[in-house]
Amino acid sequence: MVGVDKAPRFSGEDAVRLARDLYGVDVAAEPLPSERDQNFQLRDARGGRFVLKIANREERRDVLEMQNSLFEFLERHPLGLEFPRVVSDLRGTAITSVSGSDGAEYLVRLLTWVDGTCMALAAPHSAELLGSLGAALGRMDNGLEGFSHPGVQRVFHWDLRQAALAREHLNLLPARQRQIVEPLFEAWAAIDWQSLRSGVIYNDANDYNVLVDASGSRVVSLLDFGDVVHSATVCDLAIGVAYAMLDKPDPIGAAAQVVAAYHGVRPLTAAEVEALYSLVTTRLAASVCYAAWQRREAPGNDYLNISNQPAWGLLDRLAALPPGWPDEVFRRVCGFARGAQQGVALAAAREKTLGPSLSLSYERPLHIIRGWKQHLYDSQGRAFLDCVNNVAHVGHSHPRVVEAAARQMALLNTNTRYLYEGLTDYVERLTSTLPEPLRVAFLVTSGSEANELALRMAKAHTGGDQVVVVDAAYHGNTNALVEISPYKFNGRGGRGQPAHVHIAAMPDVYRGAHRGADAGERYAQSVADEVVHAAGRAPGLAAFFCEAALGCGGQIILPEGYLTNAFAAVRDAGGVCIADEVQTGFGRAGSHFWMFETQGVVPDIVTMGKPIGNGHPLGAVVTTPEIARSFANGMEYFNTFGGNPVSCAVGMAVLDVIRDEGLQENARVTGESLLAGLRELVGRHELIADVRGQGLFVGFEMVRDRETKEPAAAEASALVEGMKEMGVLLSTDGPFHNVIKIKPPMVFGEKDAGVLVERLDKVMGRVARAVAG
Ligand code: PMP
Repeated sequence: MVGVDKAPRFSGEDAVRLARDLYGVDVAAEPLPSERDQNFQLRDARGGRFVLKIANREERRDVLEMQNSLFEFLERHPLGLEFPRVVSDLRGTAITSVSGSDGAEYLVRLLTWVDGTCMALAAPHSAELLGSLGAALGRMDNGLEGFSHPGVQRVFHWDLRQAALAREHLNLLPARQRQIVEPLFEAWAAIDWQSLRSGVIYNDANDYNVLVDASGSRVVSLLDFGDVVHSATVCDLAIGVAYAMLDKPDPIGAAAQVVAAYHGVRPLTAAEVEALYSLVTTRLAASVCYAAWQRREAPGNDYLNISNQPAWGLLDRLAALPPGWPDEVFRRVCGFARGAQQGVALAAAREKTLGPSLSLSYERPLHIIRGWKQHLYDSQGRAFLDCVNNVAHVGHSHPRVVEAAARQMALLNTNTRYLYEGLTDYVERLTSTLPEPLRVAFLVTSGSEANELALRMAKAHTGGDQVVVVDAAYHGNTNALVEISPYKFNGRGGRGQPAHVHIAAMPDVYRGAHRGADAGERYAQSVADEVVHAAGRAPGLAAFFCEAALGCGGQIILPEGYLTNAFAAVRDAGGVCIADEVQTGFGRAGSHFWMFETQGVVPDIVTMGKPIGNGHPLGAVVTTPEIARSFANGMEYFNTFGGNPVSCAVGMAVLDVIRDEGLQENARVTGESLLAGLRELVGRHELIADVRGQGLFVGFEMVRDRETKEPAAAEASALVEGMKEMGVLLSTDGPFHNVIKIKPPMVFGEKDAGVLVERLDKVMGRVARAVAG
């Protein structure tokens, strides 16, 4: 391997002298960065520019001849890119030998200058530019098929086939980094090189070698043919992809653009697509290993560090991706994914086969094909930070949950009329998270089923049928629950308020009538007033249904004292207090496992859904032995799927993960940091009026005018759409559709909160300018 310690050490004055003596040009010289050679930019008095290249002492002459021959070849076979031309010296020689001050001989060449900006300095990179890079590499590889030269046949350390040479330096990395890089070499070792097309490749599309035009949207040149070699041609793409991913918030999304465009120009084979991602990571692995080795050899060479920091950042981000995801994306963008359909076709099929009452999110709907932790990934390889899916509570596709479900599914899945440990173990564990006397559980399959059952229990226990609910609440999709959900019966297509339902005011301290220290008590008075009406109607009050923090109402945190006073009024009238924890339970509150605990109360019935099974259809009702006895009036309660062995295994795995990964504490810490970040935005954006939240149950109101509080619904929608384009998923809610809801999977960390706030800051500015314009 050509050593960096053998790099030439000519001065600027030497370069000026060489230009004059060898080429007869009068120039000023500026050094350019190089790993193992020495390059100078030369400028003559008329503005003419050149590159003086002084090769490493150990560089082979035939390799330089090969490069020169390639420049000539490319001049004869244009690829839509501009390349330097070789300028011969005064004696007509293209490669000239000169003596260095160290007495050694060095080979010198003069090349014409090509105008452009290094891609590394042209960030941010548009999709167009990334596509242009892929296409340029595809054209280059197509073009190089016609080129041959003995100099390309060599054992070269930057040839990805020779990555074993880089692997030797693995032991120079600190343990943590070695852990990241080692598996990359293992994947490299498994590559079937025989299955890949081979040919001459450019082999160095690093972001300092790719030149971009003034608009930043088109690649105009590929510089430096020092790494040209005969190898697998897909390596050219792999190297371009590796550098195109550096410093990108969504590296695979960026890679997909490069790969798709390359494939458009030079279709990849299935085998090349399979090997591509391993080759990409091999380049990164080789790069960090050589950097470690060279740092030891030549501690002063800054160039060696250039791509090292971003490479580690990228390797960290790649390690966080769902297993197999990059390969899946490359397969998809190259049309090798079986059964993959285009979004347009799916939307058409959906329209035909599913009723129109089911809506899609976003103006241009997303075609999501993978979930992993706090991210969702679409069919084009784009990553989205998921701030919406509170159902994927412990993270999308959590391996422990998946494993628990698969294991039990393979053993037994039946109904609750048999004895099995899983059921009683799970129920004991679930009820142990609740205060006494909430010790009896019923397992169901959704939040709606849980509330439906809770309503039946309340009726059975009290003999009443009147229900008090909070305005704008949603409790489920059944007949009986739509009737107690103002969100539905007073919303579009609703039939209005049924006679047996009584609506208490939303305890909203931003928009409602009461704020200040006694707001909770005053809002509870509204419940007490409705309880009086309800109790006065035969056969009397059954229940007060209340979410422990209002979701559909617009992420409203209940004011202090609200439930204490409301529950007292309900119980005085003989009613049952039902806390709907479908949205809010399982540690999301941060400070407590159950949101109702933040109010210092104990409900008579607690209903659970969404997060309880991390997406598996599971729900639960937990109540007191007394109410459970009242409900056992002779009619059996049977639920075919509720509490089946698979559901119990899943539910148990979810509880285990919440505990083992400290997710409740994460919700507390991340929630605080998120609220602090959002509150800073209030100072910068007039549109944000009220920020509120508890743990990872967070929201903010958007208004056109902070005095009148005129809701900014259109702006909120525009914000959600704009954030989606920036790779962040959010939703709106509240009676005026102007509240942004934030309820991410509980693995959402402080870094994610930072990303969310930073992008909100950007998009909010854009939305505000669009409104003003
Ligand atoms: N209660 C609340 C508070 C909810 O948010 C929901 C669902 N959005 C439900 C009940 C109903 O749950 P499911 O959709 O699982 O039937």
